[in-house]
Amino acid sequence: MAQEHRPPIESGCPDGFQYMHPVMRKNYGAWDYHEHPRPGVLLHVAKNGDQIWTVRAGTQRILDVFTLRTLCDIGDKYADGYVRFTIRSNIEYMVADEAKVQPMIDALEAEGFVVGGTKNSVAMISHTQGWLHCDIPGTDASGVVKAMMDELIDEFKENNMPNRVHMTTSCCQINCGGQGDIAINVQHTKPPKINHDLVSNVCERPSVVARCPVAAIRPAQVNGKPSLEVDEKKCICCGACFPPCPPMQINDAEHTKLAIWVGGNHSNARGKPTFQKLVAAGIPNNPPRWPEATAIVKRILRAYKDDARDWERINDWVERVGWPRFFELTGLPFTKFHIDNWRGARRSLNSSTHIRF
Ligand code: SF4
Ligand code: SF4
Repeated sequence: MAQEHRPPIESGCPDGFQYMHPVMRKNYGAWDYHEHPRPGVLLHVAKNGDQIWTVRAGTQRILDVFTLRTLCDIGDKYADGYVRFTIRSNIEYMVADEAKVQPMIDALEAEGFVVGGTKNSVAMISHTQGWLHCDIPGTDASGVVKAMMDELIDEFKENNMPNRVHMTTSCCQINCGGQGDIAINVQHTKPPKINHDLVSNVCERPSVVARCPVAAIRPAQVNGKPSLEVDEKKCICCGACFPPCPPMQINDAEHTKLAIWVGGNHSNARGKPTFQKLVAAGIPNNPPRWPEATAIVKRILRAYKDDARDWERINDWVERVGWPRFFELTGLPFTKFHIDNWRGARRSLNSSTHIRF
């Protein structure tokens, strides 16, 4: 008799259809048009006339159980118990009955949630969880988000921007986060400090050497023990050696800063992807409110709001006016640090066949 095999354990992402509002499931692929009746609310109309309203509210990325219960109670009362979370950590309720839309908004606002983040608003800043789950953050990305969104709350609630603004933060210099219309990223400014007593116990030296993008790390013997050394002239202070080797400490209260990058966007039906460019560096990593970084973000948003044409994203606007004009309009200083003079860039960034060194 053939041996019976154990069925595989499915531990991946579950099928989303089972969680979808019945009106959405029924009309999957059969929508006619959608409208935006007010900030924070979308209306989708199916070909057969079915309608469904989506109400979006901002939430923090990490939700405690009491807040979740409050949000779920509101969903049970007004949205037939269906909710979903967006990739920018907003909660969305699907409401099939128009009469329940305004009472739901009132219930959310009564509990202190903010309805908005749709169409040409400043959407919720996307970010990683930093201290809560990761071993390498150089700042508290969630804290930066809270401090900034407190000041941008009106831009989240209203539709005053020329087009949508996506902002991101990252809490280290190398991994998740950090690609958007405006990105607030960690910037290390000093090479790692090595604790030689710990390296041989904690680090797998060949993997650490291989991690460095500019080959600045070499194996070394220090005080008779195997360790590592860094060629500080080559080091670009990226922090990539810190995750596999925590004794190569790079986070530093004084020398870990923030940098702001502008103009990143995905490709779409009309344009290629655009890469963001550095516009402000060496900004103090200044918890708990990060006032310096927030002031620069607000300055960029004000210039974009005043000068961009309707429906221009930030990258479209900068491309039209040019980077010199961007710096004039925002009043941000353009310094020698904005010019990429890293000699490795000749091979990696300057890829034209006409200009080769
Ligand atoms: S951005 Fe870096 S520090 Fe933050 S969660 Fe991602 S890997 Fe960790
Ligand atoms: S910080 Fe980056 S560039 Fe410097 S030694 Fe570590 S991996 Fe290499």
